Amino acid sequence: MSNMNHERVLSVHHWNDTLFSFKCTRDPGLRFENGQFVMIGLQQDSGRPLMRAYSIASPNWEEHLEFFSIKVPDGPLTSQLQHLKEGDEIIISKKPTGTLVLDDLNPGKHLYLLSTGTGLAPFMSVIQDPETYERFRLTDLMRSGKLFSDIGLPPINPQDDRAMICGSPSMLDETSEVLDSFGLKISPRMREPGDYLIERAFVEK
Ligand SMILES: Cc1cc2nc3c(=O)[nH]c(=O)nc-3n(C[C@H](O)[C@H](O)[C@H](O)COP(=O)(O)OP(=O)(O)OC[C@H]3O[C@@H](n4cnc5c(N)ncnc54)[C@H](O)[C@@H]3O)c2cc1C
Repeated sequence: MSNMNHERVLSVHHWNDTLFSFKCTRDPGLRFENGQFVMIGLQQDSGRPLMRAYSIASPNWEEHLEFFSIKVPDGPLTSQLQHLKEGDEIIISKKPTGTLVLDDLNPGKHLYLLSTGTGLAPFMSVIQDPETYERFRLTDLMRSGKLFSDIGLPPINPQDDRAMICGSPSMLDETSEVLDSFGLKISPRMREPGDYLIERAFVEK
């Protein structure tokens, strides 16, 4: 049995001269942890596919897979890969692997995801992992004041600061509570300004 899946490109987006991303179909049997990478590649005339390691940028709960790719001048794979079009075939290994997984971190309050260039890709997957927010909480950072000292701003105050919140009902409740404690007033309804706004579409069902 082959250790590769043959997938179809669903869409391609060119961000600039050196970076593009694409989405492709995902074999239902492919399981991975957010932050892991796979080998992806293109079939060559010689018969053997040309494969390279690629971080999966989409979270493991998405139906499709997404990748971000550099365009290396004269790079063996990327000089071909950058011409991908919707409907093209892409080969993907069946065994994701990698070290950047939440389960391998000790519990903590703050998670720093440090990257350059396409090093962003695994973190795009990690930040969409619901567990990330259970282990590393924005509201703890705000309560302790660490968020503000980290970004070099004074703590949130109703004179200077405004906020918008979008998330699950429990995230909205907790973040609202923290903003209230800093003295900010919520907008009571649409078209009535306040110090902060929440996306009510999620709560007013
Ligand atoms: C664990 C892992 C995960 C990776 N994830 C990604 C990813 O998500 N997206 C991605 O574009 N690449 C990623 N890479 C790099 C990827 O495997 C290839 O090297 C890249 O696609 C270029 O392939 P190529 O055949 O065109 O050139 P290669 O012959 O593979 O590379 C030629 C040279 O280009 C430079 N280079 C390669 N990749 C990059 C890069 N991403 N950014 C800056 N310089 C680079 C290096 O100097 C390298 O020596 C990853 C590599 C590893 C080991």
